[in-house]
Formats: sequence, structure tokens, C-alpha cells
Amino acid sequence: MANQKICSIVQDLIKGNKSYIKDINEKLKKHISGQHPKIAVLSCSDSRVIPEKIFDKNLGDLFIVRVAGNVAMDPSVIESLEYCVNFLGINLFIILGHTHCGAIQAAEKTRDNSANILNEIKKGFTYDDNHIIGNIKRQLDELPKRSSIIKKAIERDKLYINGAVYNVEDGKVSFLNID
Ligand SMILES: [Zn+2]
Repeated sequence: MANQKICSIVQDLIKGNKSYIKDINEKLKKHISGQHPKIAVLSCSDSRVIPEKIFDKNLGDLFIVRVAGNVAMDPSVIESLEYCVNFLGINLFIILGHTHCGAIQAAEKTRDNSANILNEIKKGFTYDDNHIIGNIKRQLDELPKRSSIIKKAIERDKLYINGAVYNVEDGKVSFLNID
């Protein structure tokens, strides 16, 4: 191991995992044969944004793709979401942004155009004065353009994509579209 500090962090993870196994052992068995989540969530990588906790869900409930700034721009993100349509039969995607998002703040501040994620987020600024919402609206708009699989699923009413913002101050999620 690299040094004492790293070693103690890993030891803490091992301890945490032991405690997890103790709590969840019986539940794990139910999910060995496969996963059947009904919802996919594209959320930010921010450590304060934990979809399973935010929505009070558990093992097997949510298919989650996490990337800084919750942007659906590169093939690994898009193909992960396509997998939900093609193989899991998921009918609902949620693009989950959040308040105090460092990626949004960095995109607002930077004049450097070398970071792909920040460039992508900046393009969302024209969609809404609230840049967190603007970014989500752009992703809602762009995702079907970037994936014919997702576009077709939406057109056939097999997939619905909603946006939502998680407020890190009070834990509340506000959905952009509520029917
Ligand atoms: Zn964020």
C-alpha cells in the first residue's frame, strides 16, 4: 500500500463493507439471478448526491449512471442508458442535477474551453437562467438526438425522460415535469 494514510482509508472501507454484509446478507440472495430496476437515473458524481438514499430505494431498484455535471455526452454514458432500454426494459429515465453543483459552478467561472464536460454544461446556459436547470433541459433535449435507440423508445411511448433537481440544503427533489 502506498502509505499509512491510504492504508487506513482502505481499512475503513473494509470495515464498512463488513457492516454492509451484516445488514444486507439476506437481501443479496434475492438479487443474485439478475437485476430488474424500473428506473434509470443519470446523476452527478457529487458525493452528496446518492440517488438510492435520496429516493429511499434499495438493492435492484435504480440503474444509476453517475458523471460530473450529469451530462449525457460520451458513448459510455449513452450506451449505458441504451442498455436500460434494450436489455432492462426500463421506461423511465431521470436526469438528476443538484444545487451547489461544482461542475456547474466551474462552467460558469472558466474561460478555458479545454474541458469537454464544462463546454457541454455551458451550452445548457441558454436553455434556462438557472444553469442547473438549463443543463438538465439541454440533456433532455440532446439525449434523443445522440441516441437513435432512445429516440425511438420515446417516440413509441416506451420511454419517458424527466429532469429533476436535488436540493443539497434540504434534501428535496423537484421534478421539472409533473403530469
Ligand atoms: Zn454536481
